[in-house]
Amino acid sequence: MVHLNERQKISQDALYLEDTYLGDVHTSVTATGHDEAGGRWLAVRHNIFHPQGGGQPADRGWLGECEVVPVRHAATGLVVLHATGSHSAGLDDLSEGDLVHTRIDAGLRLLHAALHTAGHLVEAACRVEGWTLAGSNHFPGQARIELTPPETGAQLTDAEEREKAADRLRAFIAAAMADDLPVTADHDDEGHRVVRLGDVHAAPCGGTHVRSLADLRQVTISAVKLKKGRLRVSYTAGHRTLR
Ligand SMILES: [Zn+2]
Repeated sequence: MVHLNERQKISQDALYLEDTYLGDVHTSVTATGHDEAGGRWLAVRHNIFHPQGGGQPADRGWLGECEVVPVRHAATGLVVLHATGSHSAGLDDLSEGDLVHTRIDAGLRLLHAALHTAGHLVEAACRVEGWTLAGSNHFPGQARIELTPPETGAQLTDAEEREKAADRLRAFIAAAMADDLPVTADHDDEGHRVVRLGDVHAAPCGGTHVRSLADLRQVTISAVKLKKGRLRVSYTAGHRTLR
């Protein structure tokens, strides 16, 4: 249930798409509601929270002193904030128009952005091999890109051939990082957000990214495996300013 006329267009700016490095903002409550389980949510006018989607996990953060997690609200398309756990103190008393301070867990944001950007880089390297993207997961500790190889070409059922391919991926990644390719986003003619790594890669994407590949550190291809006809390229990455 949304405490606003459902037909009324609720305005929300997706600041997380404009600036990965924006860690906090003063804004106002633009909508409130309850989910089916009865939990209360709030939506804010200027949203810095990335909800889970596109293989990237959700941010964590705070609204005032209340720890929150963002979720994409299906009925309205808004990114709404739920209190984590039972500590919703401060959230229940707020209503539309109230001014609030929101901030994200900046370290977690940078880790997610680094893993996600590295995923684009790994995908770009794999496309050079002629492989087609079939799926991606940018979660910490399980990051991987899944691809379909062409029916002809290198015999990737052979472990030695897969290791040679992994070395070619590593060389591509090292060269792109040495060039410090810029990571940019623009919109195509149909309004879809397109993310680019220099001129070597372009893909539709709604995630958060680092500013250029120099912001990444230790992008490592840990394994190239073949499972049920799909290649699974596992990788790790960190952010330059995190240890
Ligand atoms: Zn992306």
